[in-house]
Amino acid sequence: MASLSLRSLVKRYGHGRQQQQVLHGIDAEIAEGEFIVIVGPSGCGKSTLLRLIAGLETVTEGEIVFTTAAGPRVVNDIEPADRDIAMVFQNYALYPHMSVFDNIAYGLKIAGLPRQEIRDRVDKVAVMLELGALLERRPRALSGGQRQRVAMGRAIVRQPQVFLFDEPLSNLDARLRVQTRLQIQRLHAELGTTSLFVTHDQSEAMTLAQRMIVMHDGRIEQIGTPEAVYRTPASTFVASFIGSPPMNLLHGQALVGADGVLQFQPAGSDPSAALVLSGEGAPVNGTVVLGVRAEHLRLAEAGAPGAWPFRVEVVEMLGAERLLHGRLGASPAAPLVTCRIDADRPAPVAGMAIGLRPDAGALHWFDADSGRRLSVAQVMGTGTPTPT
Ligand code: ADP
Ligand code: MG
Repeated sequence: MASLSLRSLVKRYGHGRQQQQVLHGIDAEIAEGEFIVIVGPSGCGKSTLLRLIAGLETVTEGEIVFTTAAGPRVVNDIEPADRDIAMVFQNYALYPHMSVFDNIAYGLKIAGLPRQEIRDRVDKVAVMLELGALLERRPRALSGGQRQRVAMGRAIVRQPQVFLFDEPLSNLDARLRVQTRLQIQRLHAELGTTSLFVTHDQSEAMTLAQRMIVMHDGRIEQIGTPEAVYRTPASTFVASFIGSPPMNLLHGQALVGADGVLQFQPAGSDPSAALVLSGEGAPVNGTVVLGVRAEHLRLAEAGAPGAWPFRVEVVEMLGAERLLHGRLGASPAAPLVTCRIDADRPAPVAGMAIGLRPDAGALHWFDADSGRRLSVAQVMGTGTPTPT
């Protein structure tokens, strides 16, 4: 098994005026045996990063270091075949004229392993992936999920130092995706091989990752456990990309009155929709973005002290819970907010004017220009205090 260091990785495609920079300095340390998910919207550079690690693309600047029992080794100029990695793609091209057994065994045959060892390794992998009964079949006689498992078997049987997965579940239907996801988790628990898994799907990232790398426009926005990324998003991008529904983000003016009470005036709302945040105690002044997750808003009576005005527009029933979508105030320009409630509770209906109260301590503050998360200490220094 290997640990990986990505050091200031830059990737540019093309030359001269056609040149396009796709990765802008990627730094990450991946520990031996870790399951890392690289997540971000389409086009942010996830596949490029994986292909650099695999050796399928050349590194423009920076270093990729694999550290194994034999010590650290810069692999920038090492051929893909000599990096001891196995990659599973979204389009898992199997050899159509070969049986499942031969598809899985192919790489080992090429490597010249003894027949008995090949047999043993393929049988073991077939058990792990529940392919035992299918070994004599051709790929065309398999379902999509079974073919994907053969593609994974082909990677696993090589016993590489590192697994690289590029959106391997994207072609499967929703049910099969969830099943295969669980199977990948079990495999990792059993094999413990260092793995990098790329997806654009935040729910896949949340469920699979030990740590995730959130990417945006060729840069890393945040690295952390799913819990840490969800609870303390480093930027408005992460706050809105990770989690469903996305975090409510309200642009506006915050100011602390002489009485110490914090008032927040969302942009586009009328003064009566000022949000009073008496329990918060965060001394904020100036233009900021306030973030609050849908599950951290409680229903209240319209006009209740400390409650924000909320007009329900759409109610979505999701089974165990309901999402209420609406606006903070009656004005059509008032900001949209989503609130999550238990489906067992009686729900307001569309058109109702009620109140919302945020949970104490569940507010997030972000810089309005950079989108970066603000700690309370930073918040104190931003903007000009506005006299009341
Ligand atoms: P992702 O996997 O996150 O969807 P990619 O890594 O495939 O993103 O692509 C990132 C960016 O790099 C995109 O803008 C894409 O058009 C560009 N790109 C990818 N491969 C090449 C290439 N071979 N030549 C030029 N541009 C490329
Ligand atoms: Mg991709």
